[in-house]
Amino acid sequence: PGTPPKPHEKAKHPSSPPLPRQNAKVTPPSPPKVIADAGGNFEFTRGVKLGEGGFARVYEIRDAYGARLACKVVTKSSLKTKKAKTKLYAEIKIHKALNHPNIVQFQDCFDDDEHVYMTLELCPNGSLMDMLRARKRFTEPEARFFMVQLIGACHYMHTHQVIHRDLKLGNIFLDKTMNVKVGDFGLAALIESPGERKKTICGTPNYIAPEVLFDTANGHSFEVDTWSIGVILYTLVVGRPPFQTKNVKEIYDRIQKNEYEFPPDRVVSLEVQHLVSQILTLDPSQRPSLHEILSHAWFTRGAIPSYIPHSAHKHMPDFS
Ligand code: ADP
Repeated sequence: PGTPPKPHEKAKHPSSPPLPRQNAKVTPPSPPKVIADAGGNFEFTRGVKLGEGGFARVYEIRDAYGARLACKVVTKSSLKTKKAKTKLYAEIKIHKALNHPNIVQFQDCFDDDEHVYMTLELCPNGSLMDMLRARKRFTEPEARFFMVQLIGACHYMHTHQVIHRDLKLGNIFLDKTMNVKVGDFGLAALIESPGERKKTICGTPNYIAPEVLFDTANGHSFEVDTWSIGVILYTLVVGRPPFQTKNVKEIYDRIQKNEYEFPPDRVVSLEVQHLVSQILTLDPSQRPSLHEILSHAWFTRGAIPSYIPHSAHKHMPDFS
């Protein structure tokens, strides 16, 4: 897979789905080598940059005891608008409240004159996106392992009224023992009353649910994450996302028509094809629940490894 399209947000005209944000970034100055807050409560030494996303850079840091953490850094100069601030506060509020073995643990949040810092559990094994690039595709037992943990994290979020809205391989990280950690709550939403519908068009083109793009009057809810889970499952076992094409408009077109195919050479089992087709249902109310997904024969009748070895970054593991 090539460079994935960037996430985007907001469209003025719901009839013309948004295009991903263009890259018009200027590189801001690096955060200091010693990261500390004015109150003297926190002090970390900054290490290498781990990655960067839409509005944040993420570094490896060490605390006074030498423990390694990740630190998400946002420059205050990028928070000039009220909207940008509200968005960051929402991410912090939502992420801070979540506590689950398969969700990147949020630790603390503080600031100095120039930056806002979020300290997070470190995921030293990259994302499933990095791993898929090296592996081309995963075996079905590996996919079951990752999916069980992803669905567990998603079920936890949904029971805590949180919709992630940007589930994708690049936001599924791996901790030091190769367990799944869902991260990046930058597009997450909190459902504050039963039946509330969200209207903001957001997500990442390949993974975005049809109702987000084409049912803007009615809005969307938890089922958008279920759709993304279907896209993720397809991508893990096939090696590329189901609706992928050259341009974003065509991707949206394919999503609207539910147009995707499995490779003809039976590289993937009929069971997984059946499960994917159940999940990728255009009508969100007809999608299976997370429990129903885990009760599908592909999960219940297939092998699930007890762990994924580090060697799986490079080679297909031998589970025999
Ligand atoms: P954004 O919200 O700006 O998209 P992300 O939270 O997705 O930022 O992080 C950007 C990148 O930083 C990720 O793609 C990944 O490479 C790296 N990263 C983020 N969180 C962690 C973490 N907890 N451990 C290790 N790397 C991380």
